[in-house]
Amino acid sequence: MSWGEGAPCTQTEPDSWFPVGELGRAGRVRDLVAVCESCPVRGMCAAEALRIGAAHGVWAGVDLGDGDVTTGRARAQKHLTPIAFAWALEYTAQHPAVAS
Ligand code: SF4
Repeated sequence: MSWGEGAPCTQTEPDSWFPVGELGRAGRVRDLVAVCESCPVRGMCAAEALRIGAAHGVWAGVDLGDGDVTTGRARAQKHLTPIAFAWALEYTAQHPAVAS
């Protein structure tokens, strides 16, 4: 099972998560962010975006932009890292390691 199964974005056109251009982009991003806020796998999404070095589009409710890669990656580090970290802490608490 993929980490993204059950995510609302899987029911939509993938390209729609990478809005480009100025006209209407802000409204489109707002709609996407609202979808992410109720997503059950938001933390895993943030971790995956960091893992692959995502630099464009909307991931885990964070707009990484549609332009410069360096700026997009900086936004990812700043805004996705806390989301991914919070998810990792919660996951670890729910799945404690078993001492051998
Ligand atoms: S948080 Fe990630 S997986 Fe969930 S809807 Fe948003 S982009 Fe899709």
